[in-house]
Amino acid sequence: MYDVIILGAGPSGLTAAMYAARGKLKTLVVIGPMVGGQIALTYQVDNYPGFPEGLTGPELSDRFKTHAEKFGAEFLDAEATRVDFTSTPYKIWVGEKLLEAKSIIVAMGMTHRKLGVPGEDHLFGRGVFVCATCDAILYEDKKVVVVGGGDSAVQEAIDLAKFASEVTIVHRRDELRACRCLTDKAMSEPKIKFLYSTVVDEIIGEKRVQQVRLRNLKTEATSVIDAEGVLLAIGWNPNTIMFKGYLDMNESGNLETFGVKTRKPGVYVAGDLMDMDYRQVVTSCGSGCAAALEAMHWLETQPVR
Ligand code: NAP
Repeated sequence: MYDVIILGAGPSGLTAAMYAARGKLKTLVVIGPMVGGQIALTYQVDNYPGFPEGLTGPELSDRFKTHAEKFGAEFLDAEATRVDFTSTPYKIWVGEKLLEAKSIIVAMGMTHRKLGVPGEDHLFGRGVFVCATCDAILYEDKKVVVVGGGDSAVQEAIDLAKFASEVTIVHRRDELRACRCLTDKAMSEPKIKFLYSTVVDEIIGEKRVQQVRLRNLKTEATSVIDAEGVLLAIGWNPNTIMFKGYLDMNESGNLETFGVKTRKPGVYVAGDLMDMDYRQVVTSCGSGCAAALEAMHWLETQPVR
């Protein structure tokens, strides 16, 4: 029986693990797909406080894990397959294996939507990326394609234009979905170009992105343009399907949260699943800390520890 099981090992889950274990809770992290989560896919992290020289995403992830282990957090390198939060102790299955905990921190993050085109997986982290705030500086004086037509795509293009030599927004429809304020700003930025009714058919490059194959949906004409970066801004899917029926969520799977709290006593949420606005490593760490502290306080109110 664990005091707390943390689902997910991104910055929020690992910070929660560090705080919980340091607070003497018997703590297990069910890692999920990978230690570090999305940050493990980021080559260079240079906006995490205290590391002015920067470090790689995997390095930062390992440091977070080591820090949690130092205080006694346990790790299970597997993915949770099913939960039952009907009553305490809360139940989590990893395949056939049943785990039980008095409290839970859900830190499973979001999965960026993919285009599903050749080159995308192979070049992910090698020119294909999903966060301008994290990676824009790597594209100084380079040409970048941004895919999508929503607020994220346009905001990311504006951020990228501070560094890149040229940013091309490629959108499948003939008008943007983004708000007028962002669109106007992007249109007044000479480095940003727009290709409407156009899709990406292939991302080309051996070790890094070199070119992008495009197709105009109206004419079916294809073209290949040079680009060293492709930023995917086609939306995110929350990793919450497993919690349906146990935690309140809308039809898109976004959890109903109150800060890091849910309506379910002893079940907390940290990281991107409770933060639609900032989604930075440092803010994820903050919510992981908050979730662990809430879990500690809640456990103290329970009759048997
Ligand atoms: P979004 O609004 O869902 O937009 C996703 C975009 O990607 C849409 O233009 C969509 O095209 C396109 N798309 C989806 N699947 C695609 C595919 N397979 N191939 C090509 N294009 C595809 O997502 P978002 O832009 O991330 O925004 C999410 C939420 O965050 C929104 O509520 C937004 O307002 C908010 N947000 C706000 C700000 C801000 O205020 N500064 C910044 C970022 C995000 P279609 O248009 O054809 O559907």
